[in-house]
Amino acid sequence: MSLTNQHCRTFTARWVFPVSGPPLPHGTVTVRGDCIESIDPPGTRTPDEDFGNAAIIPGLVNAHTHLDLSGARGLIPPTDPEHFTDWLRGVIAYRRTRLSEEVHADTRAGLEECLWHGVTLLGDISADGGSWDTLAGSPIRAVVFREMIGLSEERAEAARRAGWEWYANRPTAEQTRGGISPHAPYSARESLLRCGATPGMRTTIHLAESPAEMELIMSRSGPFVEFLSSVGAWDPSGLIQSVGAVITHNRTAGRFLFAHCNYLPIDDARYFHNDMSIVYCPRTHAAFGHPPHPFREFLARGVRVCLGTDSLASNPDLDILAEARFVREQYPDFPGAAILRMVTLSGAEALGWADDAGSLEPGKSADLVVVPLPDRDDSDPHELLLADVPGIRRTLFRGEWRE
Ligand SMILES: [Zn+2]
Repeated sequence: MSLTNQHCRTFTARWVFPVSGPPLPHGTVTVRGDCIESIDPPGTRTPDEDFGNAAIIPGLVNAHTHLDLSGARGLIPPTDPEHFTDWLRGVIAYRRTRLSEEVHADTRAGLEECLWHGVTLLGDISADGGSWDTLAGSPIRAVVFREMIGLSEERAEAARRAGWEWYANRPTAEQTRGGISPHAPYSARESLLRCGATPGMRTTIHLAESPAEMELIMSRSGPFVEFLSSVGAWDPSGLIQSVGAVITHNRTAGRFLFAHCNYLPIDDARYFHNDMSIVYCPRTHAAFGHPPHPFREFLARGVRVCLGTDSLASNPDLDILAEARFVREQYPDFPGAAILRMVTLSGAEALGWADDAGSLEPGKSADLVVVPLPDRDDSDPHELLLADVPGIRRTLFRGEWRE
């Protein structure tokens, strides 16, 4: 850090949302160098810059995406829930057409979109770990989860070896952390689904995403049998005995992020511990026409829920605040403060970055987003933030403005 950015700057706006505490009308955020020095009510400090009718919120967290699929926007329309395997077929066919330099460019383009929308912390699943260099060299924090796929013993072993080799040999990076992603109960052998069982390891698994997955795991039947057979990957000996077992087998392991959980029985909430979270991808969930997501029931049972965009193979864009606004639209009675937490502090906790990111608190990284607000009032200021107002967001990351 250079001495020139060690100076103190104080920002204000119509509303400041620390997330770790209540919103402050005309509060101030004081930044020194790359850290937050203090958050104050009005009158304590003289602001250097006033953003006017805007909100200052923590840097946004997108806890689940696949940047390497960013070239697929609009190419593989989501199906109805009963034909999920047809969509998977489309994704596989698409991946086969992509050259490695195209995948690199797609990753870059997806990242640019995240940066533009104010994301300062990203959970990215990367088929071969290839997004690591792109993310590590960019003004963003990230966890790169290296994907592992293989239902047969032989494929699972090869995936495990390649995954751990990548994890052990990845270059060090200050703002990027590594993890693994055994893909899903229908594509990863039971042994792979348990392979995050290492203290400190970050793991993400797609879980209970479609009715077909539930049918496969419960009764070893349904559309996945034909789908997996057709791609030469069917091996019933590799299937885990229940979706709940994916959680219970990892109870003593590190940090787990379960993606989707659209069909996870609410009773399975009892298996979650504090280092386990669910990531709900609202617009992708809606695009597949799934029944309402059980996120409120899981939250009520003490399970942490954060939000993700999933990839551009199923989502219109990588704007995580648009996911929050979509949740507001779909669930008008759900508290705005809880929605904001899902795209900030809960995401940071789920990804294991909450010591540095996720809220505006003294000592945390100076990451914030300035979001334009509508020209009206509301008894709950979160409603102003969740209203869809056009306008450019400005993002400060580690004390530097993104231009
Ligand atoms: Zn995904």
